[in-house]
Amino acid sequence: MKTFKDLGLHPELLGAVERLGFEQPTPIQKETIPAILEARRDIIAMAQTGTGKTAGFGLPIVQQVETGKPGVQALILCPTRELCLQITRDLTAFASGRQGVSLVSVYGGASIETQIKSLKRGAQIVIGTPGRTLDLIKRKALRLETLRWLVLDEADEMLNMGFREDLDAILSKTSSEKQTLLFSATMPEGVRRISASYMQNPREITAGVRNSGADQVSHEYYVVKSHNRYTAVKRLADLNPDIYGIIFCRTRSDAREITSELLSDGYNADALHGDLTQAQRDTVMDRFRKRQIQLLVATDVASRGLDVSELSHIINFTLPDDPEVYVHRSGRTGRAGRAGKSLIILQPKELFMIRRLEKLVGKKFEYRKIPSGQEICEKRLYSLMDRLEKITVNEKEIAPFLPAIVKKFSWLDRDELLKRIVAFEFNRFLDYYRLAGDINASVEPVVHSDQGQGKKRKRKPPAPSSGHKQGRKGKPAAGKRRRAGRTQ
Ligand code: AMP
Repeated sequence: MKTFKDLGLHPELLGAVERLGFEQPTPIQKETIPAILEARRDIIAMAQTGTGKTAGFGLPIVQQVETGKPGVQALILCPTRELCLQITRDLTAFASGRQGVSLVSVYGGASIETQIKSLKRGAQIVIGTPGRTLDLIKRKALRLETLRWLVLDEADEMLNMGFREDLDAILSKTSSEKQTLLFSATMPEGVRRISASYMQNPREITAGVRNSGADQVSHEYYVVKSHNRYTAVKRLADLNPDIYGIIFCRTRSDAREITSELLSDGYNADALHGDLTQAQRDTVMDRFRKRQIQLLVATDVASRGLDVSELSHIINFTLPDDPEVYVHRSGRTGRAGRAGKSLIILQPKELFMIRRLEKLVGKKFEYRKIPSGQEICEKRLYSLMDRLEKITVNEKEIAPFLPAIVKKFSWLDRDELLKRIVAFEFNRFLDYYRLAGDINASVEPVVHSDQGQGKKRKRKPPAPSSGHKQGRKGKPAAGKRRRAGRTQ
């Protein structure tokens, strides 16, 4: 097993790696660190957030920058301001054992004058978004003649965000002497074109194509009619009281609508999409990171740069058109050694997509039924009992009130008291789900080759009718709709 030392890192960097708690290099680091230290060929790497790619390029660059020399030696381009700041934080930590390494990050939405001043003071490493970087190059505040490394991080996302022309303009201004390192979660045509136009005989690395925790992710799909998607999300959230996750949707209007439905149903949710200002996005991300928001409803582009490693669930409200984007979404859970689930809500006509995704992910996806109201109530009840059992009692603070409380309930026996505690917390769930019907669509689940030809499952009969009238989106009809939101 190769260590960071075997890969060629110096003691100053090894100290930083140790402080960060990295025990051994990730697959992508094993490839990129020696390749960058030996200044070998250009590199094009399929890698997404979570593979350790930032250290993969950051450690060898930080080790090699020449601190006494003027001029920018490394330029790292990435799609968003958040990612820019994240990379800057990471590289600053890698450089903590080396004197004199200076980094500057440049991005839109902040004062360009301040950034020009920082660049004038001298920076060996510049981390920037393409638009602002080009602006600074045009103003001659940023010169690239001395560049040794050019990193394109999340290249696919930079193209998705419309930075194609800016990238072309920047890349055409750099000399061919440098080493170019391109990282991308997916390899669409646009990324291939950049590689063909600006990179020399690049070596392709696919190690770490999926996040290192991908084995920890299980994939489940649920089939409902389109108008029941929201009800499905709600039931899945209710079934998982401790959920901390992202609900991905394709459009901003979906994100807006789902968030407002969740909020009016009493959930702890917020939206992250392109209609928000940068400051609003920052606030939402910060609150989500601090777990003040339990469910983040996001579009793919807006959620880039949000690095949270403890997500329990990803919910695909709609699947993306590009299957690689699904891999990226699901790779956001199952990190840091924790198990994670990626849940997919589908219409019957989208079932064919499951096979395609299974091939890409290399795992079997499990068909599951959206739980019934009774199943959810049971699960919530047990979760409530667990919480009651495990709650920390502050004896000292409660002591003064206890005699009065005991007196007040003295006429109730233990069982009666328990019933009341449970009912207090639970009545709204029971009320809400009393009339909830089965929303599973009739489907023929994906048959896997290991199930054998003869075992092909028969088409299931249509889901039984609940006999109850459902309101819009499968909610109980007006008047019966009650909040079944978070219990905390
Ligand atoms: P990245 O793919 O660069 O976004 O990194 C994902 C996360 O993995 C970050 O929180 C890093 O600090 C962490 N990380 C990077 N390399 C290692 C490593 N070799 N061992 C453990 N954690 C790592």
